[in-house]
Amino acid sequence: MTKDSENSVAEPASQVKVMKGALDVAVIGGGIGGLVSAYWLAKAGARVTVYEASDQLGGLGTFFKYRDISLERFYHCMLPSDRYLLGVLHELGLDDQIYWKETSFGFMRGEQLYGLNTPLELLRFSPLSLIDRIRVGLTGLWGKICSPRGLDDITCVEWLSRISGQRAFEIFWKPMLQAKFGDRYHEVPALWFWTRFNREKGGKRECKGYIHGGYRRIIDTLAESIEALGGTIKLQAPVEKMDLTDDGALSVSAVNDGPKRFDRVVVTAPISFLHKAMANGRLADAAKKVDTKIDMQGVVNAVLMLRRGFTKHYWVATIDEDIPFQGIVESTTLLEKSDTAGVHLFYLMNYVHRTEALFNQSDDEILSAYIDGLKRLFPDFQEADVIDRFVFRAPFVEPLYTTGYQQRKPPSVLLPGKLYLATTAQVYPDVTSWNGTVGLVQKVVDDILQEK
Ligand SMILES: Cc1cc2nc3c(=O)[nH]c(=O)nc-3n(C[C@H](O)[C@H](O)[C@H](O)COP(=O)(O)OP(=O)(O)OC[C@H]3O[C@@H](n4cnc5c(N)ncnc54)[C@H](O)[C@@H]3O)c2cc1C
Repeated sequence: MTKDSENSVAEPASQVKVMKGALDVAVIGGGIGGLVSAYWLAKAGARVTVYEASDQLGGLGTFFKYRDISLERFYHCMLPSDRYLLGVLHELGLDDQIYWKETSFGFMRGEQLYGLNTPLELLRFSPLSLIDRIRVGLTGLWGKICSPRGLDDITCVEWLSRISGQRAFEIFWKPMLQAKFGDRYHEVPALWFWTRFNREKGGKRECKGYIHGGYRRIIDTLAESIEALGGTIKLQAPVEKMDLTDDGALSVSAVNDGPKRFDRVVVTAPISFLHKAMANGRLADAAKKVDTKIDMQGVVNAVLMLRRGFTKHYWVATIDEDIPFQGIVESTTLLEKSDTAGVHLFYLMNYVHRTEALFNQSDDEILSAYIDGLKRLFPDFQEADVIDRFVFRAPFVEPLYTTGYQQRKPPSVLLPGKLYLATTAQVYPDVTSWNGTVGLVQKVVDDILQEK
């Protein structure tokens, strides 16, 4: 374990300016985007109200109680290159709570586990011919040095097949793209792959970070800071309507709460919310700035608490068609024992659209299929290894990108001087992550403070 990551670099926190007169600002959504927006705006002197639809904060990075600690519903970790996120953690005085470890990636094919972290491991990767192994390695090198210009206009399929070759694409890259985007994989722009690849493998060696107490610690610290600055956080307050009043102020109505007047609104909830909340009112034209055709991928993910570990890798891609999940995150390879309640944590995931049958299966069906899959992958895995099991789903994780997305992604200003957008649909080409969201929010908050 490294005490600190060699190449971690924190972006100086947003240069928060001070508002001249206090404004009333509503922030819709209490995920990392909403909480950081509210924190910075409150720090600049705004009277902030956060509306969160669910009964807890954190959005996709939220938690659940297990024994006497909180665990992530969806596996989360940070990277040394997460400079925006690390900048906020520094501002919150949390940097000394972060720890780093060297981690690794595995690839399971034909029930055989391959490490794929060094040139030597790639050379031993027998599912590919020697020539194809070399081409995949060269693709990695090229990905690190080539310019991203033009990559938004061609697909991953075209780009990767051209550099790695058709066979290597089919065996190696395609299953991983399918794992993330299902049957829409062929539409995803090469720029998505390029930024992801450079985020994951940009450093000298793979290194990931986590925080003592889990991501809940960040969420709680942000919430306490917002409240200490005079902000209000409303849970179980799904916003259902936004409109303009006769005198041009914004009005926000949540279920059983409102309408309330605001000078500014920042929307961080998934964009599908916008069209519903702004249809048929004075904001209907502003809503038209957001392409209604942008659709989002979802995820079904199970967390198994096991008596023992099965691989040494943080993430293993499981790409065989008869294995009912696309990957395993064995987060115990990163987390300290005090952050796992002493059990081995296995996250098994499927990125899948909310309309697909898998997304709508019962928890029991999902768990039974996943456990059968584990038995096939690890012959000595037994049902008795499982101490506890949970299933979590999220319908809106990230856009199903298509070529030219950079031109089509929603703008951050919907109504100048009033209504702003900072959602996961705008993080591209950055990777959809806490870091990407904080980077986006920093720009949006700066815009708001500059317009004042
Ligand atoms: C399986 C999985 C693994 C991941 N792993 C990582 C990782 O390792 N590292 C990393 O950095 N990122 C990871 N991410 C991505 C990361 O979680 C997201 O990019 C980030 O949480 C997005 O934050 P957000 O605030 O933009 O949106 P969200 O987290 O989606 O927050 C939006 C909030 O809006 C609320 N909302 C919705 N509708 C309304 C309404 N009408 N009124 C009020 N509130 C509303 C929602 O309840 C939610 O709390 C992962 C995501 C998933 C699903």
